[in-house]
Amino acid sequence: MQVKKINTVIVGAGQAGLAMSAHLRTEGVDHIILEKHRVVERWRTARWDSLVANGPAWHDRFPVQEFTGIGSDDFATRDDVVSYFETFAEAVKAPVRCGVEVKSVTRQRDSGFLVETNSAQIMAENVVAATGPFQKPVIPALIPEVERIQQIHSSNYRNPMQLNSGAVLVIGAGSSGAQIADELLGVGRRVYLAVGPHDRPPRRYRGMDFVWWLGVLGKWQMKTPPLGKEHVTIAVSGAHGGKTVDFRHFAERGMTLLGMATSYQNDVIYFADDLRKNIQDGDANYLALLEEADSYVEREGLELPEEPDAKIIRADPACLKQPLRQLDLTKAKIATIIWATGYTQDFGWLKVNAFDEFGRPHHQNGIAAESGIYFLGLPWLTMRGSSFIWGVWEDAAAIAEHIATRDNVQA
Ligand SMILES: Cc1cc2nc3c(=O)[nH]c(=O)nc-3n(C[C@H](O)[C@H](O)[C@H](O)COP(=O)(O)OP(=O)(O)OC[C@H]3O[C@@H](n4cnc5c(N)ncnc54)[C@H](O)[C@@H]3O)c2cc1C
Repeated sequence: MQVKKINTVIVGAGQAGLAMSAHLRTEGVDHIILEKHRVVERWRTARWDSLVANGPAWHDRFPVQEFTGIGSDDFATRDDVVSYFETFAEAVKAPVRCGVEVKSVTRQRDSGFLVETNSAQIMAENVVAATGPFQKPVIPALIPEVERIQQIHSSNYRNPMQLNSGAVLVIGAGSSGAQIADELLGVGRRVYLAVGPHDRPPRRYRGMDFVWWLGVLGKWQMKTPPLGKEHVTIAVSGAHGGKTVDFRHFAERGMTLLGMATSYQNDVIYFADDLRKNIQDGDANYLALLEEADSYVEREGLELPEEPDAKIIRADPACLKQPLRQLDLTKAKIATIIWATGYTQDFGWLKVNAFDEFGRPHHQNGIAAESGIYFLGLPWLTMRGSSFIWGVWEDAAAIAEHIATRDNVQA
């Protein structure tokens, strides 16, 4: 097999790989993108049918291209996002090779990296891993397979029609779990939702969207998660034109809230005694952002309409006053469990010295300890915004500059 030589191989043609390609082209760096499926595959096939972006169209985009066909305050649908990136890939002439899976990357003494794929071998000076912040669905080993109960991960949820008829238990109440539970409740399903620790920002406050507030308050640019919040999920939604996620309101509409699922025995699932605390901490996070926003308005002398009603927290629903600590799946007629329990990463193909003792990418601002290896699109790569559409653009620019400078130094 002939070995092709190329300066930089980008692995993955999601938004991160495309942003990387655009910046490398600007820097004049010869490169190729290898994608095992199609451009932005995960936006096509790992999202449910009704999904809309979590941020409005003016925000959840690359700075160099606007969405067409929707207003800037609208929330792009899944299909809008896919066609946005298809258009972008064409506009920047991204050199994507679809259907090419990278099987391994190994260092070859002084001559760079050998990239082995299902169809070719390539020698590259640099390799950018842009394979996603959320790669492999995680389902905790809590409930064994029970024939009567359908268990799926949120990445495999498409729409209510796909589910067994009967009640649904959604485990995990970040953006995915909250939105899926809300959709199921809306079509008349009996829904139970296990709620862990979460942040719950207001969708809008004093006329501005929360993504705007995160920007002016400097929270998107934060370098590391606040202490103790490293694993706290964010419950936010652009559904229904964008509404604040309010678990109390879900309960008023008939949803039963539960604490964290902890164990399972003989058809009964048990929950921690943490529902009240999780909900109250979420409320505190919500109220704290309103306070910070008010201080900012005052400090900057802005004229934004006051919104005192936003600070009213609804009364505790019954399921919060006396939370259920166990649920008999048969008695509750649970026919489906949806695990909205997040993802892990898999860099098994990247056989280089770029990982710490726990197998986590070891890098500084995406630049790995192993010279010539880069990571892009990971959560908190350089800042809070790193895994989001707008944030990956900035990170890609810095990595492209690093690659171009490194190559000039080496030449
Ligand atoms: C449900 C959900 C909703 C989200 N909503 C938003 C939102 O509204 N706004 C926002 O800004 N962010 C959102 N995100 C976060 C983030 O924007 C997405 O996760 C996005 O898909 C990340 O893009 P990426 O390019 O970094 O990775 P991915 O989209 O995961 O792309 C990685 C690509 O790499 C390919 N690949 C993997 N391994 C290999 C290999 N070995 N060889 C070749 N190719 C490979 C995959 O096929 C894939 O196409 C959301 C995330 C999720 C899970």
